[in-house]
Amino acid sequence: MCFAKEDVDLKIRELLVEAYTRQHMDGAWSSYSPPPAIESDLKIRCQQCDQLFDLTVAEQEFYQRMEYYSTPHKCQGCNDRVLLRQR
Ligand SMILES: [Zn+2]
Repeated sequence: MCFAKEDVDLKIRELLVEAYTRQHMDGAWSSYSPPPAIESDLKIRCQQCDQLFDLTVAEQEFYQRMEYYSTPHKCQGCNDRVLLRQR
């Protein structure tokens, strides 16, 4: 492949503008490629009590934003029980 120097400069400028725009407009500066779209609630089986529980879209987005790439393994009830035991 052979690019004219002007084309390369233009392309670099486009990329810089795009990166700058992302950084300042939508706050998605930590990852260049957008995360996968979250479309529906997830059903997860609790590792403790073996019940299915929902991970809502909002919760999935929260975990994604916090960069917890693993999803939770326990339902809310079991998480609460763990918290109570710690007190
Ligand atoms: Zn549970």
